[in-house]
Amino acid sequence: MPNGIDATFRLTRPGVPAGQAATWQTVLTEFAAEIPDPERVEVIITDEFEKVAGEYRVQAVDQSNESETAEQYRASRSDGARAAALTVRLPHDKDVVVVGSPLYAHGVRSMRHTLLHEAQHVRLNQHGDTAHAVHRRTSFTLPSDDITWEYLWIAESSIDEFRCERTVHERGWTDPSNTNSPQDVDGVEATFHATRAQYRRNQNVRAAYENGIASLERLATVLAYGAAGLATGVVTAESWAEAPAMGRVLDVLEELPGTSVVVPRETLIDTAVQLAKRLRRLLQEQGFDCYFLDDGTLWFEVR
Ligand SMILES: [Zn+2]
Repeated sequence: MPNGIDATFRLTRPGVPAGQAATWQTVLTEFAAEIPDPERVEVIITDEFEKVAGEYRVQAVDQSNESETAEQYRASRSDGARAAALTVRLPHDKDVVVVGSPLYAHGVRSMRHTLLHEAQHVRLNQHGDTAHAVHRRTSFTLPSDDITWEYLWIAESSIDEFRCERTVHERGWTDPSNTNSPQDVDGVEATFHATRAQYRRNQNVRAAYENGIASLERLATVLAYGAAGLATGVVTAESWAEAPAMGRVLDVLEELPGTSVVVPRETLIDTAVQLAKRLRRLLQEQGFDCYFLDDGTLWFEVR
């Protein structure tokens, strides 16, 4: 494979048609050009995305949920959107990028957008500039009167998503079908409503917590993608005028640069805390709250 990238197909039905292989090769060459140290990244293109992504996720250096098993990984998000690719930071400064082979059917623009977005995650990782788990790489005390770890982990991931996506747009790799819109926010809000309705029926607060936090995670990703489009002018401000949720996060995210600038750790953590507070407000607006009681107990409520 090109430019020192270790790229392999892992397919249950072996044999990649020549035309397909050539298209993957083209996009992988562009991918490789984005990676500071191509020797330290592996790309796996697979028709068993969930299985392979799950296998690697449990090996990640920083996991928010250490008890998650490989089998528990799901590509589908709370609103039904499905992940097409995943970058995992492994021990020994290595990254693996798992790509679902059905991405090919979406065309070369979508492949480019998706793979070069993942390439930016690898860049952040190789630069030591990832916001994900940055609180573990610096001395940090959670301002627990405002936020819990849930918000912080989600905020950190949103920062990375924004910066990777911002770079994709700035470099002209945008596939318009990969941008998010207020309709995506509506889709996530519907999942919050469904969680509340389910809670009314079964009073299962554990399920409400898991589903509510999953929806918040998805909302934060949609908003981060949307904010990257707004910050770069790829989408218009008018197109987002009807989504007040964007107004809660845009001013925090749009200050962040793409992946070619290394952001000081203190700035990453400060931004993550600010964003985490905004995420709590978004969760409250959806009729939930998650916070610490005075005795330190984690509390989740459906309002
Ligand atoms: Zn991403």
